[in-house]
Amino acid sequence: MLFYPKLIEPNGQFINEYTHSTSKIVCVGRNYSAHAKELNNPVPKEPLLFIKSTNCLVDLDKPIQIPKQQGDCHHELEISILIAKKLTKVSREEAIDAIDGIGLALDLTLREIQSKLKSKGQPWEKAKSFDGACPVSGFVNIDHFADLSNIEFAMKKNGQIAQKGNTKDMLFDIAQLIQEISNQFTLYPGDIVLTGTPDGVAKLDEQDNLEFTLATNKIVQTVVQ
Ligand code: ZN
Repeated sequence: MLFYPKLIEPNGQFINEYTHSTSKIVCVGRNYSAHAKELNNPVPKEPLLFIKSTNCLVDLDKPIQIPKQQGDCHHELEISILIAKKLTKVSREEAIDAIDGIGLALDLTLREIQSKLKSKGQPWEKAKSFDGACPVSGFVNIDHFADLSNIEFAMKKNGQIAQKGNTKDMLFDIAQLIQEISNQFTLYPGDIVLTGTPDGVAKLDEQDNLEFTLATNKIVQTVVQ
């Protein structure tokens, strides 16, 4: 099934669907040093890239279905980027010029399965690319962001701040990430880039209420099922 990203106003109000569907979601691991430390991972010298397939995509304003009997399912709150152009081996300027919008996403992760796969040096797809593993918000047009290197974002769980971050704390900034990705994987209009999680990852439980804030605006809320 094709997934068309949604475009929203800064306050979360739906505008319309994007003209292109998503062909892939490219993600980065360990892009905030405090998160690398909380999972006892080394801080990387170059971006650690991986891909979630389109079967992962669901709208963040719908209830989140987490897998049952597969161990803890962690939330990783991340800034997401909607790509507007075909990008292959681009410059920093071309990378910035290709951003259509900014949103939030959850890089849902079956942490116990991931730990087992990591310990055996095996690929992460079972832990990271299962059905529904990437709930995404709508995207706010980039013109609403004065400085890509200073965007705050947060998620409340049952009324308490569970994760918060600011793009200024990224090890590799947004332009650099898109540039690095385009050296390896051509990006197409409609593709989504997830930029890594700040610290505070933790398990989701059924009935958790989640509320998402992007640049001080509450844009969406949902519940875990
Ligand atoms: Zn992540």
